[in-house]
This record gives sequence, structure tokens and C-alpha cells, in this order.
Amino acid sequence: MTTLSSPARPARILVTGGAGFIGSHYVRSLLGPQGPGDVAITVLDKLTYAGNPANLDEVRDHPGFAFVQGDICDPALVAKLMAEHDEVVHFAAESHVDRSIDGGAEFVRTNVVGTHTLIDAAHRAGIRTFVHISTDEVYGSIDEGSWPETHPLQPNSPYSSAKASSDLIALSYHRTHGLDVRVTRCSNNYGHHHFPEKVIPLFITNLLDGRKVPLYGDGGNVRDWLHIDDHVQGIDLVRTKGRPGEVYNIGGGTELSNKELTGLLLEACGADWDTSVEYVADRKGHDRRYSVDCTKIRTELGYEPRKDFAAGLAETVAWYRGNRDWWEPLKERAAL
Ligand code: NAD
Repeated sequence: MTTLSSPARPARILVTGGAGFIGSHYVRSLLGPQGPGDVAITVLDKLTYAGNPANLDEVRDHPGFAFVQGDICDPALVAKLMAEHDEVVHFAAESHVDRSIDGGAEFVRTNVVGTHTLIDAAHRAGIRTFVHISTDEVYGSIDEGSWPETHPLQPNSPYSSAKASSDLIALSYHRTHGLDVRVTRCSNNYGHHHFPEKVIPLFITNLLDGRKVPLYGDGGNVRDWLHIDDHVQGIDLVRTKGRPGEVYNIGGGTELSNKELTGLLLEACGADWDTSVEYVADRKGHDRRYSVDCTKIRTELGYEPRKDFAAGLAETVAWYRGNRDWWEPLKERAAL
């Protein structure tokens, strides 16, 4: 006797914060022509100042796409959505360090309470895999060398402290309840659709408008730059092949001081240092250098950043040049 097996149902993934910078890239990538093809996605997003429905226009009519406007701190809504999904990829957060220095309350509410609300509901609903997106900033600041995932968490800003707290809460649900939680900690992302308060899009859009760019302190703070496409690749490797309860660093491999980065952006936008750069007082508690050791994700999951930084930066500048209608209203609303 032959039995007819029905085709496997696509994985139903709840993506929080999917209208933001990284989340929207992730959703467009999974539902795009190069995507895995076996997923259906619901975006849960509150649409704060950083959430932009236009970031999802490309996938709005995809049969596997749904959007819910709502708050990750809303237990009833979150419980209902968990019951309808198999996996969670959690991006939603307050994400801008400078705003957390002005006031940390919303960072604790969304990043800590929101993550707890989600993970607790995920546990109760029997979610298969929960990927928690975090940041290299939870490790603190490092003058030399790079952090492995086992390095103690020593966050310095209200933003990174709230993210570190959310990592610990997420991982506690693995240790306590056996929930399949996977945490990613990435370096600084860049690419198109990046909210123009962050340094690369802020500097590009200021320069395109003939305005000065504000360089913090002595410009010597060092960051590792990760192209958004490489980050998305890393996240999906962790979702599909990572191990429960594990943390994976994701880096891009291009380390630059803010001064070096500014020089490259001036060159790309045809501006010069003397007329376009304004040194401003340093950010309070400014971490000097971040650097993640990506050996684990490379050796275990085959991750490899592919985007050449010069090419990625040129494409990013070209995108902002050609998409003023995307960023001009955002800058105006945020008074940037
Ligand atoms: P973003 O600020 O562009 O987007 C955040 C999204 O979350 C927005 O769409 C916003 O509307 C949504 N959101 C905020 N509060 C919410 C709430 N209470 N309920 C539901 N939705 C809410 O951020 P991003 O740059 O895309 O970052 C995504 C994640 O990656 C964050 O967790 C951030 O900490 C982490 N991260 C970002 C970077 C980076 O370079 N951008 C680096 C390391 C880690």
C-alpha cells in the first residue's frame, strides 16, 4: 500500500521589529527570489519613529507575508501570535545609543520587558526556535584583540545594558525551560534603508545636502563594519543550522576609526574635510573599540562575510543619492 504524504507546511516565522533597518532586510531577503521559499512571515512592529512601513513595500503583496502593528510588551497580543507561529526572529528594540543617554526608560521597557514578554509567551506556546538579535556592545569596549562569545558581559550605555539584560533573560529560558533560544551578537551594520540618525546614513545625507558632519571627540573610536546582506546571511544560518542555547558573534571584518570612516564618506560624496567636518563633544561613556571574534560562526555554520567594504559603501551612498523621498521626511520628522 502506498501512502500519500502531504508536502511540509512552510515554517511560520514571527519577525519582531521587521519594519526597522535590519528586520526589513531580513524579511525582504527571506521572501525574495533568493530566499528559502519554505517560509511564511508575520511582522510584529509597533512602528515607532524607527519603524517604516515603506521598508516592507517590496513584500507587501507576497502571499506568505502578514503585518501586525503592535507592541512586543503586550502579553495578550504576543500570546495570540505565538500560538500561530513555529519560530521567532526577534529584532524589535530601541536601538540608538544617543537616545538611551538622553533617557533609558523606553530602552528598558522595550528591550528588557518586551523581550521577556516574547520569550515567556514563546515558551508557553511551544515555539520551536527563538532567535534573539543582540549586539557586540554588550561586551563593553576592548583596546586590543577580539571578544569570543564566552567573554563576560560588561555593557556601558543604557542601550547596551538593556540589550545585555535581554540576552540573559533569553538564555535563561533555554537553561531553565529547555526552550531553543539562539542569540546573535553583531557588529555595526551598514547599508540602504538605515535610519538617518545612525552615523553612516547621517553623514551621507548631511553631505548630500551640503551640511557639516558632527565627529565625536578625537574621531578615534573604532568599529567593525558589517554589510546588512552579510548580517542577514549570518542570522539565517543561525536560525536554520545553529545550536540551541548558543551565542554566535557576527562581524564584517572591516575595522575603521570614525575618522577613517569620515574620510571615506567625504570622498564618496565629493566633500572635503575642512569645510564639512565639525568636531563635537564626545558621546558620554563612549566605548573606544568593539571587535568580535567570529571563529565560531565561521567554523560551525560556514559563515563568511562576502561584501567588500568599498563596494558596499559606494552602493549605500548611491542608494541615499537616489532615494531622497525615503530619507528626507524621516530627517525632518526626527529634526536631524
Ligand atoms: P531599528 O531601530 O531600525 O528598528 C527597530 C524596529 O523595532 C522598528 O521597526 C521599531 O518600530 C520596532 N519596535 C521598537 N519598539 C517596539 C515595540 N515595543 N514593539 C514592537 N516593535 C517595536 O533597529 P535595527 O538597527 O534594525 O536593529 C535591529 C536589532 O539589531 C536591534 O535589536 C538592535 O539592538 C540590533 N543591532 C543593531 C545593530 C545596527 O548596527 N543597526 C548592531 C547590533 C545590533
